[in-house]
Amino acid sequence: MISAVVTKMRKEDLPAGEVLCQYCSAKCCRYFALPIDKPESRDEFENIRWFMLHGRVGLFVDDNVWYLMVFADCRHLRPDNMCGIYETRPTICRSYSTDNCEYDDDGIYDQYFETPEQMWEFMHAMLPAEKPRKFSTVPAAARDISLPVVSHA
Ligand code: SF4
Ligand code: SF4
Repeated sequence: MISAVVTKMRKEDLPAGEVLCQYCSAKCCRYFALPIDKPESRDEFENIRWFMLHGRVGLFVDDNVWYLMVFADCRHLRPDNMCGIYETRPTICRSYSTDNCEYDDDGIYDQYFETPEQMWEFMHAMLPAEKPRKFSTVPAAARDISLPVVSHA
């Protein structure tokens, strides 16, 4: 049996009068990315790890800028991968052009983190090790323990 090999339309082969988006899975309508400050401290790394714990959140670094990436389909993306509000789509969608879009982008960034566990490992690799906490083996004396006092006025 001979099966047809389906190849992806290349930008340069697009027939005149056709729109590249007709051949795309709407890559640019399925996520958004926000630039964030580069984390320097443990708390800042932990905040990013917390974002990522929510799922469908990634992080990439390009040209030394850190971006939080949220994978979420636009609510106006139609089942045929076309825009359901084309005439009133937001400015950012209007300004995006197939001339330099990610249609055939290989998605390679300077750094890319897919999971919070990767961020955790990276944090430990980048930051100095935490000093181990010391616990006394001697029980505290009663006079050293103060409890909050509730006043009943
Ligand atoms: S602009 Fe580019 S990435 Fe977005 S849907 Fe069209 S071809 Fe795909
Ligand atoms: S408004 Fe239209 S072009 Fe913009 S992200 Fe949504 S589906 Fe895509």
